[in-house]
Amino acid sequence: MAERLHARRARSNIPVTMGADELPATLRAALVGAIGERNLLTDPDLKASYEIDWTRRFHGRAAAVVRPATTAEVAAILRACSAAGRAVVPQGGNTGLVGGGVPRDGEVVLSTTRLTGPCSVDAAAGEIVVPAGTTLHQVQEAARDAGFDFGVDIGPRESCTIGGMIAANAGGVHVLRYGMMSEQLIGVEAVLADGSVIGRVPGLRKDNAGYHLAALLAGSEGTLGVVTRAHLRLTPAMPERAVALLGLDDVEAAVAVMRQVRPALPSLAALELILAEALDLVCRYAGVAAPLRGAHPVVLLIECAGQTSPREELLAALESAGGLVRESVAADDAAGVRRLWRYRDAAGEAINAAGVPHKLDVAVPLAAVPEFVARVRAAVAAAAPEARVAIWGHVGDGNLHVNILGLAPGDAPIDHDVLRLAVELGGTIAAEHGVGTQKTADLPLARSAGDLAAMRAIKAALDPRGILNPGVVVMR
Ligand SMILES: Cc1cc2nc3c(=O)[nH]c(=O)nc-3n(C[C@H](O)[C@H](O)[C@H](O)COP(=O)(O)OP(=O)(O)OC[C@H]3O[C@@H](n4cnc5c(N)ncnc54)[C@H](O)[C@@H]3O)c2cc1C
Repeated sequence: MAERLHARRARSNIPVTMGADELPATLRAALVGAIGERNLLTDPDLKASYEIDWTRRFHGRAAAVVRPATTAEVAAILRACSAAGRAVVPQGGNTGLVGGGVPRDGEVVLSTTRLTGPCSVDAAAGEIVVPAGTTLHQVQEAARDAGFDFGVDIGPRESCTIGGMIAANAGGVHVLRYGMMSEQLIGVEAVLADGSVIGRVPGLRKDNAGYHLAALLAGSEGTLGVVTRAHLRLTPAMPERAVALLGLDDVEAAVAVMRQVRPALPSLAALELILAEALDLVCRYAGVAAPLRGAHPVVLLIECAGQTSPREELLAALESAGGLVRESVAADDAAGVRRLWRYRDAAGEAINAAGVPHKLDVAVPLAAVPEFVARVRAAVAAAAPEARVAIWGHVGDGNLHVNILGLAPGDAPIDHDVLRLAVELGGTIAAEHGVGTQKTADLPLARSAGDLAAMRAIKAALDPRGILNPGVVVMR
């Protein structure tokens, strides 16, 4: 029953022709003309992996999956789908966590995984141009080969695509140093619903000739256009790293340590929080011992990075926070750094292995993090005593991932309570994963009526027939 409610909510926002699982002959012919028979998938077995998300919480049936290899093919597909009034769901690596990249029912999934090609680095400018289907890992390799790095790093780096990361405005572990995906953009090329191509790639760092369309596409979650190419800034390589895991008594202590060490760490690259339930899940999943001897309610991961070893700087800063730290472990060799990061990196896989989680990605002001954690735990315990809560996140940005196990996939009231609480404490319902279909109904909690009207006006202007990812982000 709960499952059906969820499906109904998602479908209720969809204005264009939906529900038909088969493609009309004219649309089919147009799509075959655009990309060839081989890249139009209608066989249920071939479509299956495109129809369900990484958490297995969101799924639907696609009328077809199309796999263009060029911007011109994307344009031809969108022209054909626009003419037929058929909704299109852009999909990159399908690692999104809010249901925005999987079909609801009867849509055409436009997979960008064939939009690949050489990554072109301009070393003098410290920039790279890539097709949208390029994975984050491929960008990182190309950057490193040229002596650079890329500012955004997230766990599913081998699968997630640059187009998907722009569309989601991905954040990740290094936002406190380099910002989110929107801050890496120099230019973006995208195809609008009517098949017209917008944006400038390669672009220019300084180009105020009109609206910044790349910024508009960041975080648009496939609702305004299909990103086909990107021009991104690179960051200087910081090959020397030092990581410490600190065992702490409570979340208040984590915030106090951050207050203490932050000003003393110019090489700070990441500040991550792992609460005990999440650490326990990781240890069981990965079959590894806990990183610290004692059982601490809270673990704070601090990473510093530089061109020379930041080890001494990190250790000196930790000394200044000594009274709050119950126990710590540190590493500055590559294997040791990887080993300590694993306790944080594996959290998503670990919770997925334990069930189908409700994942709620929120941000609150740092000072409110302890109260938020305490009240989320209390709210879930009261509403669903059998549910388990595991919390971790990019606490340096006030960004927490609340994961709840033991709820039916469509059982949404607790999700809404958690999101409301984040807003009540001065935060937002969507920090870095986006709105997707998961939080569309909650958007008015976080955005004013004026903001929502402006978003709807932009959507209506760029996609008047509402064919691009209907039901995602804004309701019409
Ligand atoms: C284990 C794990 C850890 C994660 N950690 C983080 C994290 O730390 N920080 C973070 O921000 N995210 C994180 N994510 C979420 C996810 O990886 C990001 O949202 C990523 O940016 C999605 O990229 P993708 O190519 O997989 O996009 P998809 O999942 O395929 O799509 C995401 C959204 O973008 C749209 N889209 C995809 N490609 C395009 C395109 N070319 N043009 C227009 N729209 C498009 C889709 O319609 C959908 O709405 C994590 C996910 C997993 C599974």
